[in-house]
Amino acid sequence: MPVPIIITIDGPAGAGKSTTARKVAEHLGYIYIDTGAMYRAVTLAAIESSTALTTEDLCALVTNVTIELRTDDRGQRTLLNGVDVSDRIRQPDVTSLVSRVSAEPCVREHLVALQRMMGQHGGVVMDGRDIGSVVFPHAHVKVYLVASIAERARRRVQDLTALGQHVNLDEVIAQIAERDRLDSSRQTSPLIKPDGAVEIDTTHRTIDEQVDDIIQLARNYQKAYHYITTYGNM
Ligand code: C5P
Repeated sequence: MPVPIIITIDGPAGAGKSTTARKVAEHLGYIYIDTGAMYRAVTLAAIESSTALTTEDLCALVTNVTIELRTDDRGQRTLLNGVDVSDRIRQPDVTSLVSRVSAEPCVREHLVALQRMMGQHGGVVMDGRDIGSVVFPHAHVKVYLVASIAERARRRVQDLTALGQHVNLDEVIAQIAERDRLDSSRQTSPLIKPDGAVEIDTTHRTIDEQVDDIIQLARNYQKAYHYITTYGNM
């Protein structure tokens, strides 16, 4: 039985993290954790309770909500205070506020603690912006996915159209650029390529190719681990 490991996948919006992470997890029989959905759920809670986005209000809010991630035949579902909000958190009002909410240090502290609990036993693929840098800096396999902004926007338009939202490509490019700017420039846990992460540019790669690359990295780690635990570190 190969050792169950922690695989982290970070990168900017639209780089292909969720689809790739979900498929890698399915292939390995691991749990998939979409941490962006957790930040989106807190943002939705702020919208629903008309919370001003002050530090004080957000800190009070984040400790009073329950966020659960469950998997069913439709994939990963996000529950906020017991209610399934998986589709609601992809709506534009949440997307346009989430980077402000996620920049708040106490929101991050709270969600990072939850994420560490969820992944502590391994057998997990977790995607986000700070997973390999902050949540699990000692993860066994770390990946940093990137893609051109034009390609990332094209994919986002495709996803949103499938959800029934009508969006304009230029607007999506502008929103992604703004989210990149906010996520990369915030003071707490900005989006960076984590130390030791393998960078994969997905602009011209298919999802299956990306998935294979990451499974290969996982297998290599597990083989090396098996070798060292069997024969010692020579
Ligand atoms: O991955 P997704 O686009 O759903 O993430 C939504 C937002 O949540 C990001 O733009 C970022 O502001 C925030 N986020 C974060 N740290 C993570 C995951 C997401 O700050 N680990």
